[in-house]
Amino acid sequence: MKTIGMLGGMSWESTASYYQALNQEVKARLGGLHSAKICLYSVDFAEIEQLQHQGQWQQTAEILTDAAQKVEAGGADFLLICTNTMHKVADEIQSGISIPILHIADATAEALLADGCTKVGLLGTGFTMQEAFYKQRLKDKFCIEVLVPEEPEQEQVHHIIYQELCQGEIREESRQVYLEVIDQLAEKGAQAIILGCTEIALLVQQNHTQVPLYDTTALHAAKAVELALS
Ligand code: GLU
Repeated sequence: MKTIGMLGGMSWESTASYYQALNQEVKARLGGLHSAKICLYSVDFAEIEQLQHQGQWQQTAEILTDAAQKVEAGGADFLLICTNTMHKVADEIQSGISIPILHIADATAEALLADGCTKVGLLGTGFTMQEAFYKQRLKDKFCIEVLVPEEPEQEQVHHIIYQELCQGEIREESRQVYLEVIDQLAEKGAQAIILGCTEIALLVQQNHTQVPLYDTTALHAAKAVELALS
């Protein structure tokens, strides 16, 4: 079994979901007392979040590259960046290490295409919904068309991620906001919704809606186990 490297803490609430998903998947495949081999570096998210909102992406890249080098030195065979947003600096991180990064958007796109979904809605932080690094990859590499919410809804989705989900707060009112946004995207033609922030599945699960949901945390973790056992 290969050792899975993780850059976590963004937020730790979702890193806990990753840790559980990775171990459950290894157990499901190998049975008994089997569990995932993991090397995790978990950052202080307050530092990263502040730099994000100040637009200091170069500094976030430096912090995460240093962390990734420690994960590599700890014996990881490949790396998961356990957040969609910080894939904005995935290329910079990759250039500082020699193990490969398993990209979260690739794991998600492969699952979408396997189910025949080529037009999808994307929920995530404002950075993920607005900027090119995520949407463009889905378009260029996988020919997946991406719809995002209107600006006021984007703001609500973003606010709920940082002010609630990353702090472990799950509110029914916020779930209703997300479900409405999901319905709006489906009405515009989205065949499925990417939960493109690793905390969203803490709030919205498939049993809350008829619209198919693609949880990036679960898909990234499942792909990682596939690779670890290959
Ligand atoms: N975990 C989130 C994501 O997947 C948001 C936190 C962050 O900005 O890294 O994008």
